[in-house]
Amino acid sequence: MTDTTLALDRGGFIAALGVFVDQARAAGDHLGLLLIDLSNLRLINHRHGYEIGDHLLLEAGQQLLAISKLPDTVFRIGGHSFAFILPQLDTPAFIALALNRVQRLLDETLQIDDEILPLQLRIGLAVNLQGKHSPMVTLARAESSLTRVKQGSALEIDALIGEEEHAQEGTALEQHFSEALYDNAFDLYFQPKVDLQTGRVCSAEALIRWHLPGYGAVSPERVVQLAEAAGQTYELTRWVVNRALRAMREWRDTVVLPLAVNIPAGLVNSPDLANMLHGALTIWGVEPSMLTVEVTEGAVIEDKEAGFDNLLHLRELGMGLSIDDFGTGYSSLSYFKHIPATEIKIDQSFVRRILDDPQDRALVGIIIEIAHLFGFSVVAEGVEDAESLQCLRELGCDIAQGYLFSRPLPEQELLTWLRQYDGAFHD
Ligand code: C2E
Ligand code: MG
Ligand code: MG
Repeated sequence: MTDTTLALDRGGFIAALGVFVDQARAAGDHLGLLLIDLSNLRLINHRHGYEIGDHLLLEAGQQLLAISKLPDTVFRIGGHSFAFILPQLDTPAFIALALNRVQRLLDETLQIDDEILPLQLRIGLAVNLQGKHSPMVTLARAESSLTRVKQGSALEIDALIGEEEHAQEGTALEQHFSEALYDNAFDLYFQPKVDLQTGRVCSAEALIRWHLPGYGAVSPERVVQLAEAAGQTYELTRWVVNRALRAMREWRDTVVLPLAVNIPAGLVNSPDLANMLHGALTIWGVEPSMLTVEVTEGAVIEDKEAGFDNLLHLRELGMGLSIDDFGTGYSSLSYFKHIPATEIKIDQSFVRRILDDPQDRALVGIIIEIAHLFGFSVVAEGVEDAESLQCLRELGCDIAQGYLFSRPLPEQELLTWLRQYDGAFHD
């Protein structure tokens, strides 16, 4: 027999993968990686002897070499596993063809006879579009795909390619995000909060908006994710805070309207947060009490490890602190005593069900009661109809925010809306 035995060569495989990834990046074509595992080889060795096991391994290697048309694309990378690199693909769909071919040929040739345990073939794969992923990332993705297959999931190749294309879009968006931040291309909208005792507008929440030409509106949640991915949550928040304070400063002669800004969870623990907020307030000459920081309940719980130090600091500086999306974060009621908040915002999901679900209504009532016990004011967000508003008033809710009053508005529209809503803001 000619020596087509594949020796174990993980180093050679990694080197070759590196070369092909570089080539794909240079040529702008795609690369696939199959990890082929003869899962029950050990059992076959054990039951039928190593001779049979070695024969199967040898056969598998030869078949793969026969299928591959290019040198340096098939490697044995473990006791019973092979790697098959599929370089120079014009379209990622070719991976599905290659996968089928490998599967069929190995299945056909490796079943020896009825006496011998059927060989179990498990194949994981990764798609690397235009060589964007490093060799190690490509390998890690193929390994995790193989693990999923071993755990019984079907290999969903279309989904994998789709995910990959989606990730590519993410990479492109990430790039646009950084440019947008640099170019000042975001907008800040404002949504009024209404005091339920007086009917007056008592503040507004600043919400980021990003319209990317050629793409459309990118959701604020996505913007925050992109900032996280780019390691720029601090920069994004600084932009939002400064933009909001600038607006407040500009309105000063017309409207005195406190504002709330959202702080991403990842920044809550950062010692830089208080300095940044304090610095911005000083620069714009705005009283700290005019600014409320909204932090999600989940992020607040994370800060408890540090004894709410960071949040306490914001309070000491005189800012308001609002616990956003309250009711979704599973915080223990005992934290209530320690959370340095001024306001609780009941999550929209409760508000939405308040009319239909007596349990949700009861929950909202209890949250309001406890919050009042600890001196927090309560905001209901996502109020869309007059009945819900009435119900919230009866439950003792202090403030409401929602489409019933207004959607988030650009700065000038907000000023117009305020004038029309309540003459007291316009003399
Ligand atoms: P959030 O802070 O809980 O903001 C409330 C969200 O509910 C806003 O969505 C608002 O437009 C929406 N909303 C208000 N009233 C109603 C209503 O009556 N019905 C319905 N269906 N929705 C209503 P938006 O602006 O899409 O923001 C979503 C989330 O993105 C925010 O949730 C906040 O967590 C985050 N976000 C928005 N702007 C910023 C920002 O500048 N910085 C950070 N870190 N996060 C932001
Ligand atoms: Mg908010
Ligand atoms: Mg919320």
